[in-house]
Amino acid sequence: MKDLYNGRLYWLETLNDIRRYPSLTANKRTSVAIVGGGMSGSICGYVLAQSGIDVCIVERGEIAGGSTAANTGILQFCNDVMLSELIGQIGRQDAVLFYKACRDAVVHIGEIAAKLGKEVGFIPRSSLYYASTEQDVPKLRKEFEALQGSGFDVEFWTGEEISIHYPFHKPAAIITRGDAEINPCGFVYALADAAAAAGASIHEHTDIVDHATAGEGIQRLTTSTGIVLEAEHVIYAVGYEPEELRGQLVKADVNRTYALATEPQPDLSAWKDNILIWETARPYFYMRTTAEGRIIAGGHDEDNPKPLNSESERRKRTDKLYDRIKEHFPLFTGRLEYDWTAVFGESRDNLPFIGEDPKWPGVYYCLGYGGNGTVYSMIAANLLLNLIRGEEHPISHIVRLDRPSLESV
Ligand SMILES: Cc1cc2nc3c(=O)[nH]c(=O)nc-3n(C[C@H](O)[C@H](O)[C@H](O)COP(=O)(O)OP(=O)(O)OC[C@H]3O[C@@H](n4cnc5c(N)ncnc54)[C@H](O)[C@@H]3O)c2cc1C
Repeated sequence: MKDLYNGRLYWLETLNDIRRYPSLTANKRTSVAIVGGGMSGSICGYVLAQSGIDVCIVERGEIAGGSTAANTGILQFCNDVMLSELIGQIGRQDAVLFYKACRDAVVHIGEIAAKLGKEVGFIPRSSLYYASTEQDVPKLRKEFEALQGSGFDVEFWTGEEISIHYPFHKPAAIITRGDAEINPCGFVYALADAAAAAGASIHEHTDIVDHATAGEGIQRLTTSTGIVLEAEHVIYAVGYEPEELRGQLVKADVNRTYALATEPQPDLSAWKDNILIWETARPYFYMRTTAEGRIIAGGHDEDNPKPLNSESERRKRTDKLYDRIKEHFPLFTGRLEYDWTAVFGESRDNLPFIGEDPKWPGVYYCLGYGGNGTVYSMIAANLLLNLIRGEEHPISHIVRLDRPSLESV
């Protein structure tokens, strides 16, 4: 198992009464086996179980203990790849279809959050996406026109308009409506509990070390203790551990990133509408608030596939993130309380990997690589439900593993 993060994470400390699940100790047969109990595996497990499908989630460690624990909980329909750029990459029709699927996924996450009967910190928010430099303003304007022309709820703000509402100066911004924030770990635990209540079986401390297809298309997964889990379908929701896919996944890069959470701030009134803030620079800086009044910020990605081990080196990077908060909101006083570094997967065409293995029928992938991982996991759950039922999904051709857009990168 690879190191996914280190440092002091925030979300797990916000939770009480976490339910634990037993490891798999006897051979078992199920309709759908999901390998991985993070955000992706839990959303898939929930959606499939709610649809009456017999599903079993197996997790090597603990539910939400993978990169989900490092997630900063921002849900946006805009992606790391701008709509205007995606149009150039895959054509207008598919690019808009993909962006609309992301917008609908945020709504769907909110609907599920409301049904779980637990507080998971889902709050609808708008985002402020600002031009990091004057040179980026034409690009931002073009993006605004692409979004507005495709029916998204957006507004263009000049530098003066930003300064009227916020204590920082930036050349221009797009305001997007239809985004949200969430407590990712709270959401995943609540999803797992609801999936279990709907009939899913969940097994923590169950490491899948072998996978073969037996006669009549039955998938046979073997755990590190020799227990066999048979299934008609297997979904790999293994996050940023592509080596788990035995060479099936190509054209993905794993980098490292940084994040922090401050102490609760006594007064957040300067942060109008608790808007989600990010920028056009790449890699980008981003920040949000929490219900407790903390600020969570992240970014400053580096081209390195391992989390940084040295605490002092990590602190140098997260202190810079903290300075960026102060640059935007100079009057904030709360100190940095949590900080962490984590690996982060990105596909080379900026789209997630979701769909059936082109060479291995019955085997599916739910890999939401990119800054919008949670939104992608939601799309994946619905898409994979359709595929397993033998039905089409409107965006399956855009995100499948053998898509044409991967050939040119
Ligand atoms: C710092 C940071 C900030 C982020 N912020 C955001 C954000 O604001 N919004 C957003 O949408 N996304 C964000 N992301 C991305 C988001 O965290 C990921 O998309 C998401 O956590 C991926 O969930 P997952 O379930 O795919 O992976 P994971 O949470 O890593 O889960 C995969 C699980 O599979 C298990 N596993 C692997 N192999 C096996 C095996 N052989 N047998 C059994 N189990 C196995 C692992 O133990 C792990 O628990 C962020 C990521 C990072 C690192």
